[in-house]
Amino acid sequence: MGSPRECTRILGLEGFRVEMIEWARNEPRAAMRIRIERRGIRGYQCSGCRRRTWRVRDRAERTWADVPWAEHGVTVIYQQRRVACPTCGIRTERVAFADPKARITRRLRQVIGLDCQSMPTSHAAVRHGVSWSKARRAEYASWRSGIARGPSGGRGTSARMKFTVENGRSSTPCCRIWSMVK
Ligand SMILES: [Zn+2]
Repeated sequence: MGSPRECTRILGLEGFRVEMIEWARNEPRAAMRIRIERRGIRGYQCSGCRRRTWRVRDRAERTWADVPWAEHGVTVIYQQRRVACPTCGIRTERVAFADPKARITRRLRQVIGLDCQSMPTSHAAVRHGVSWSKARRAEYASWRSGIARGPSGGRGTSARMKFTVENGRSSTPCCRIWSMVK
């Protein structure tokens, strides 16, 4: 591996540094497992109220799928704290690169969400090595945050999209949904 500093720069997750990189297998396109830690912190942020505190209750290792490095799939590993927030009580520490409880980083979600505009959800899922439902959630989240919104803005059709995605009742490829909402 290059120097941790270079890897930190490549990873580019603000407020985190790379501690160690592990390779899943000894193969040319092996997946990477990147262990990260906070840097330059001023306490851990409560996921409820966003207040910072040093009162750490415990920690647990969590992983998020992230955008690949060239042809290497990436899993980010972090010891996420649980903090004793004076306002909210015991809460998970907020990490800015992913939504609460999400198993993928925000930026990977964006990539999947954008792909879903041009290909069926199942294809986007295979391409990024995630489950169909994860790709679907990424599509919905990305749509909701406006990132994957089409040129017309897709306004006024939120109820239909919401229904389709949340109930999972439709097997309509998302490209067709997009043509429906546009
Ligand atoms: Zn709080």
